Amino acid sequence: MTKIISGTDLANKLRAEIKEEATILQQKGIIPTLAVVLVGDNKASKSYVNSKHKACLENNINSVKIELDENISTASLLNEIEKLNNDSEVHGILVQLPLPKHIDAEQILNAVSPQKDVDGFHPINVGKLVIGEAKLIPCTPLGILEMIKSTGDEIDGKLALIIGRSNIVGKPISTLLLQNNATVITAHSKTKNLDSLLEQADIIVSCVGSAHFLTGEKKVKETVTIIDVGNNYKDGKLVGDVNLEEFMEKVAYISPVPGGVGPLTITMLMRNTLTATYDLLEK
Ligand code: NAP
Repeated sequence: MTKIISGTDLANKLRAEIKEEATILQQKGIIPTLAVVLVGDNKASKSYVNSKHKACLENNINSVKIELDENISTASLLNEIEKLNNDSEVHGILVQLPLPKHIDAEQILNAVSPQKDVDGFHPINVGKLVIGEAKLIPCTPLGILEMIKSTGDEIDGKLALIIGRSNIVGKPISTLLLQNNATVITAHSKTKNLDSLLEQADIIVSCVGSAHFLTGEKKVKETVTIIDVGNNYKDGKLVGDVNLEEFMEKVAYISPVPGGVGPLTITMLMRNTLTATYDLLEK
C-alpha cells in the first residue's frame, strides 16, 4: 500500500518542537529573531515574506520585516545588510529573492554574515556543506531530508536519484543524502537513460520544475520513496513534477503537491533561525 508523506503533518510536528525551544529561549531572555529584507513591491515575494513572518510569530520567533524601496542602490542595500550583521539582537537574515535587476544579487547574498545566513546560500556555508561541517543548510533540502527520514526506512546504502542540479535544491539534497550514506546519482537535462536510473532507485527526489514530468508509465521499484519538490501550475492548479495518482499503489511512499515539501521549507527556516541563535550565543 502506498503511504502519503504529509508535509503538512510533519511540519506541524516539527513546528511544535521549534515553538517549545523558542519559548525556552524567550524565558531566558533570549529572543530568537529573523530579519527578512524585502526590496520592492513584487506581489509573490510580499506574500512569501508574509507567510514566513506569520509562521515565525506563531512559533515564538521574532520576525522583523525590512521593506526597502525598489530603487535602492546596491551600496545602500549593502549598508542595510551590514547593520543587520552588526545587530546583536538579530540572529538570522534572509534576503527575499528575486532582487530588482539593477542590484548585484550575488554581492548582496555574499554580504550576509555566514553565521546569520539562514538560507544557507553563502559560499562559506555551501563549502561547509560539502565538507560535512555546515550548521546552516538550505531550507528546502533540509525539509526533503526530514521527509525521507520520516518514513523510518534506512537511508544507508540506498540508491538515491536526484533529478535536478540547482544550487538551491538539487545539489544540496544530493550532498545531504551522500552524507547520510546513500549512493547518489544527480540527473539533469543532459542525463541519458533516465528511465533506467528510475528503475534502479530506492529514493527519487524530483526537482525539475515541470508539471507531471514523472507519469505512471515510468517503471520504478515497489519499495521506492518519491519526494516531489516541483511547484508547477497546470490548468490554473498547483501541481508537482509527479503525477501522484498514477503512482498510487505502485510505490511505498510518495509526497504530494501541495502539502508536501512546501510547508517544510518555512519550518526549516525557523529551525535555521534557532540554529543561528544557539551558534551566536556560543560565541
Ligand atoms: P531549476 O533551477 O530550474 O532546476 C531544474 C533542474 O531540472 C535543472 O538542473 C535541469 O537540468 C533539470 N532538468 C530540466 N529538465 C530535465 C529533464 N528533462 N530531465 C532531467 N533533468 C531536467 O529549478 P529549482 O530552482 O531547482 O526548482 C525546481 C522545482 O522545485 C521548481 O518547480 C520550484 O518551484 C520547486 N521548488 C520548490 C520549493 C518548495 O519549497 N516547495 C523550493 C524550491 C524550489 P540542467 O541543470 O541541465 O538545466
